[in-house]
Amino acid sequence: MRSTMQDFPLTIGSILRHGTTVHPTAEVVTATADGARSRSYAELGARAAQLAGGLRSLGIVGDERVATFQWNNAEHLEVYLAVPAMGAVLHTLNIRLFPDQLVYVANHAEDKVVVVDDSLVGLLAQQLPRMETVTHVLVSGPDAAAADLDALRASGKEVLLYDELLAGQPTDVDWPEVDERDAAAMCYTSGTTGNPKGVAYSHRSAWLHSAAVMSGNVAGIDFTDRILPIVPMFHANAWGLPYAALMSGASLCMPDRWLQAEPVVRFIQSCRPTLSGAVPTVWNDVLQFLDHHPDEHIDSLRLVLCGGSAVPVALQKALEERHGILLRQAWGMTETSPVATVGIPPVGAEGEEHWRYRGNQGRILAGVEARLVDDQGQPLPWDGEAVGEVEVRGPWVTASYYEAEDQEAAAKFDHGWLRTGDVGTIDRLGYITLTDRAKDVIKSGGEWISSVDLENALMAHDDVVEAAVVGIPDEKWQERPLASVVLREGATVTPAELRDFLAQSFAKWQLPDAFSFIEAVPRTSVGKFDKKVIRKWYADGELQVASTLKEGGAAGSGSAR
Ligand code: ADP
Repeated sequence: MRSTMQDFPLTIGSILRHGTTVHPTAEVVTATADGARSRSYAELGARAAQLAGGLRSLGIVGDERVATFQWNNAEHLEVYLAVPAMGAVLHTLNIRLFPDQLVYVANHAEDKVVVVDDSLVGLLAQQLPRMETVTHVLVSGPDAAAADLDALRASGKEVLLYDELLAGQPTDVDWPEVDERDAAAMCYTSGTTGNPKGVAYSHRSAWLHSAAVMSGNVAGIDFTDRILPIVPMFHANAWGLPYAALMSGASLCMPDRWLQAEPVVRFIQSCRPTLSGAVPTVWNDVLQFLDHHPDEHIDSLRLVLCGGSAVPVALQKALEERHGILLRQAWGMTETSPVATVGIPPVGAEGEEHWRYRGNQGRILAGVEARLVDDQGQPLPWDGEAVGEVEVRGPWVTASYYEAEDQEAAAKFDHGWLRTGDVGTIDRLGYITLTDRAKDVIKSGGEWISSVDLENALMAHDDVVEAAVVGIPDEKWQERPLASVVLREGATVTPAELRDFLAQSFAKWQLPDAFSFIEAVPRTSVGKFDKKVIRKWYADGELQVASTLKEGGAAGSGSAR
């Protein structure tokens, strides 16, 4: 029997209509150099209609791609809504990609129009001439007219002011009917090997994913919330938070380009978000700032979603116990929209057990199915012990990469499952604990050593700000762990002391023999630890490494970087 229910498409247009008509008084607040500017959702709806009209007037039809080169701000949100709602495809360019990769993704996606923030004009202008399919550039933001438009015009593309394009357009539009399975937005992975690969989200996948983000098992968002997405809108759609805000009627606090700890703290104090999302490094910086400024307080946040890389328990404890900030770990990837698991501990987990759960990647969400497989692709039990690769499938998990026929892309899929490249365990309650990314796994004498566990443990040491552990070649054991550590200012702890500290919780063979003290852990374009760079530093002899095995190795460890 077929159901009697309406086959009503789940589209970004429906999110736009709901947010801007049912919640017209909600607001999007954007940080500025000396304060903030605000726009109501009603105004947002009117401006989204004007933008759609403006883009049509430039000749955008069908599923043509409109790219953004923007921070998190009100204009970026307008593009987020208008472009998919008009049936075109939003392509969020990662402003931190290496130039060649940026050019590659713009050409691969065949972007026609790029909307660029006034503050990013210089950065885009350098690469624009090589963006072959781009015909128009729209410069947005309060200082657009004063930006160096000639630098953009030198590329031969037509350059317009975003606000001027909108000004001539009606504030109401008949949004077209769009197939929910069509592409709404696309995002490229940052491409740690080879060229970045494109994921094209459908209207339906974005709708369902954002609804999941709103739900209690993720963030429990309602219209009394104010959401601060620090995670960039070019990084897996800011984890679905912008669309979730429009769906729930929650207001948005947009940090624009002010992402350092101090301005973030000030913006939280003035905009008073109740919910935020960012990678752990941001919260680590906020923690350092708050620890050094005992008179500064953040008391509006009820919850912070944190993910993108493992969220150390030490960081969560410090923020919660010293500053009343509750972090909740989430796991996912660009390919999974991104949220797939969220770390709320099971009912009854207290004390040590509570924190053990807070340190893992979280419980599988409805809408995502997960399994664990061994090297031969055979399913492994959910016993919290067996270690294998996590595979996922579901309505917001990609089934392929956009126009990527190569073998590497094909190898990411396993009979309808996405191979995540993440290695770990699943327990009988459906919680995933990752021990490594497949490419970061350290295999010593045939046994796996978890770099993530070692990093978490090191970061729990009072003198350690950050730590990244990589495998380095070893004649006898094939690989051994090397710990690169950033020390708190003025700290004098030695490698031997750090090793002894780790020995309290690890077997001897798992302990790093080699340590290097560095000034900062290198970061990828989305702010994660970039272990490739550390491996390269090591290979090029650029790291000053102290071995705890040799006589005197513990002493004299300087900082090479
Ligand atoms: P990229 O692969 O380009 O870094 P993504 O942001 O899609 O871009 O990265 C997804 C990967 O980030 C995951 O496969 C996983 O390795 C890592 N990751 C995300 N969240 C977590 C988390 N909570 N704990 C550990 N690793 C995480």
